[in-house]
Amino acid sequence: MAAGHRKKPEKFICCVCGRELPFCWWCPCGFMICSECMEENLWGMTCNGITWTCPDCGRIRGFGND
Ligand SMILES: [Zn+2]
Ligand SMILES: [Zn+2]
Repeated sequence: MAAGHRKKPEKFICCVCGRELPFCWWCPCGFMICSECMEENLWGMTCNGITWTCPDCGRIRGFGND
């Protein structure tokens, strides 16, 4: 993916399990995590269930939008 590309990814490959999936939670920095891995790591990713924190860049990301 080109640097500076900040739109929704064309395909989703989970950074944790490495599978290509129809959807992953994603961050503009390029980090992606599938919902299964998100659930497994939820304790480390979110403290409120409404937003999650990207482990790569620290950006706060919301569940459900964009
Ligand atoms: Zn995964
Ligand atoms: Zn990030």
